[in-house]
Amino acid sequence: MKILIVEDEEALSESMVQYLSREGFVCETAYSLDQAAEKIELYLYDAAIVDLALPDGDGLSVIRKLKHIAAATGIIIVSARKALEDKIRGLETGSDDYLTKPFSLPELNARLKSLIRRRHFGGNNEIIFREIRVNPYSRQVFVSNRETHLSRKEYDLLLYFLSNIDAVLTKESIAEHLWGDYVDSADSLDMVYSHIKNLRKKLAGPSDAGYIQSVYGIGYKFRSL
Ligand code: CA
Repeated sequence: MKILIVEDEEALSESMVQYLSREGFVCETAYSLDQAAEKIELYLYDAAIVDLALPDGDGLSVIRKLKHIAAATGIIIVSARKALEDKIRGLETGSDDYLTKPFSLPELNARLKSLIRRRHFGGNNEIIFREIRVNPYSRQVFVSNRETHLSRKEYDLLLYFLSNIDAVLTKESIAEHLWGDYVDSADSLDMVYSHIKNLRKKLAGPSDAGYIQSVYGIGYKFRSL
């Protein structure tokens, strides 16, 4: 799961990145409206954490932009403003949740996970696709009720596929989803290939349904069959 953190207080931004990365999120940061706008135009995020008071303006404009160009991205506002009016305004703009600063990182993490579950997995505690079952809290994956141990990247890849069933995902978008900004193009495309290969092997049950299909010259598709 890839998230964008729009927060100008560097120490706070860093501590969110540290905590949420350990929880398995790929985190990218923006420290101003300008930076956030640029990222939103270039990349897709599963969720965004947005501070309202940014040096170059009001965070609500980031939220409006996100709603306009990436409606599926979940949004959590984090703000020092306590005013109820701000909270209402934020929720009206289309944010999903609101946390008043100071907040605890475990609280943010819990809200983020519940938001992503609501938005991308129909509110279920487990993500179930045929014989594949994923528990996003424990990060456990079961195939035909037997636990399958995935590496962190394989796990992220599986979740990316499960939220995009039957869609063609380009190799570039997969690389970007797995590594965020730190993509070194040639190397990472090779690594995508090897993660796909391993994931295929690990998902192959007795019936070997072959969910992951290569789309020649483009990328991959997780088929509902
Ligand atoms: Ca701020």
